[in-house]
Amino acid sequence: MKRIQKRALAVSLLVIVILALTALYVTRWAVHGGEWAGFSSNGDAFTAGRIRAGTIRDRDGETLYTVRDGEGSYAGDDSVRRACLHIIGDRAGFIGSGAIFNYAGTILGYDPVNGLYSADGAGGVLTLSVDAGAQKAAWEALDGRNGAVAVINYVTGEVVCCVSSPAFDPENPPEAAPDDTSGIYMNRPLSAVYTPGSTFKLITLAAAIENIEDVFDRDFHCTGSMEVGGGRVTCTHAHGDMKLEDALALSCNCAFGQLALELGGETLQKYAEQYGLTKRQSVDGLHTAAGRFDAGAEGSLNLAWSGAGQYNDLVNPMAMARFVAAIANSGDAPALTMVKETTRLGISYDHIMNAATADKIAQIMDYAVQRTYGPENFPGLTLRAKSGTAEVGTDRPNAWFVGFIEDPDHPYAFAVCVENAGFGSSVAGPVANAVLQAAVE
Ligand SMILES: [Zn+2]
Repeated sequence: MKRIQKRALAVSLLVIVILALTALYVTRWAVHGGEWAGFSSNGDAFTAGRIRAGTIRDRDGETLYTVRDGEGSYAGDDSVRRACLHIIGDRAGFIGSGAIFNYAGTILGYDPVNGLYSADGAGGVLTLSVDAGAQKAAWEALDGRNGAVAVINYVTGEVVCCVSSPAFDPENPPEAAPDDTSGIYMNRPLSAVYTPGSTFKLITLAAAIENIEDVFDRDFHCTGSMEVGGGRVTCTHAHGDMKLEDALALSCNCAFGQLALELGGETLQKYAEQYGLTKRQSVDGLHTAAGRFDAGAEGSLNLAWSGAGQYNDLVNPMAMARFVAAIANSGDAPALTMVKETTRLGISYDHIMNAATADKIAQIMDYAVQRTYGPENFPGLTLRAKSGTAEVGTDRPNAWFVGFIEDPDHPYAFAVCVENAGFGSSVAGPVANAVLQAAVE
């Protein structure tokens, strides 16, 4: 009798182990099945390393890429092809950020019930969150200049525009050059870092609002330059007497240098980190480049310049757009995605900024548009913005324009950087306007 009990117990244990392993397998299959099917050595899915069949569309259903029997073709419009190169990928596979590689399972049409079965051999459909019209507008507005354009929906976290220049026509690629150094294969909005220039004043502003008592009552005075630690912080001209709002709207280096010295390097560093600018940010598992903030020595010229976005400051355009999205969204930065959201349920947020601080900064960015950038230059858009003209040691500075539009139907935050192109608002401002006009259409 005892022996039978022991055997029954052993059998029960065995059954439990089998059930547990089955449950584990089913769970892993449900979660990772698409990746397994999309693994490039799967002969049912790939021909010579290329996806056999599938379609990539933009958020409005416009076809950006189709592949049949392993032969891919890109969009018909020349500008759309170039604008979408870095988010779709190239045939040679040099562009690692491409959807062809990162969403292979979805493009192939994998689903947990039917596997890779596709009745008509057409594969699946991947619907990206980008807007082909905004992509095209960004590419054309960059007009041959190098740079990065990132637009995200600050409510859903969807990337609406992600354009990198230089690019090439994927239907007519250049000679294969895996050791290329021109950066033509780099997806700049994700992988580049740039000196932020005065766009970084938004971070210094946030730190000042939260750490300096009565900072809004303070009077700032600019004579055009300020002596610090044996060197000089300079402005383009003397800004005269200002309140804090004016210091941002006029982008006064002396006022922000003074605030940086007062706040100290450690505090500024803490804010740059908290706002996600020094970390890699995830876009569906693709990672942005990490930015950098080095706190210069207390009281130093370097510290003063770092608060105005110079010295060793570096930021990534997509991370900058995410930071601005948090300003627009009362402090909440949405998780970023390249795939069109079909449901609001899955959206998660990082609360990176105090809501009152975010709302106050949004007001001041509104003031900057009214006073400096001119609402007439952005017709129909309720724009909040900050420009940046980043000195990078060449003849011409990098031009930045970042901000968002206050529009419940089109909640878009953006970061535009045009390399070696001139003044922020006059060069990058029109690029931002062109992209936003196309995105709200
Ligand atoms: Zn000044």
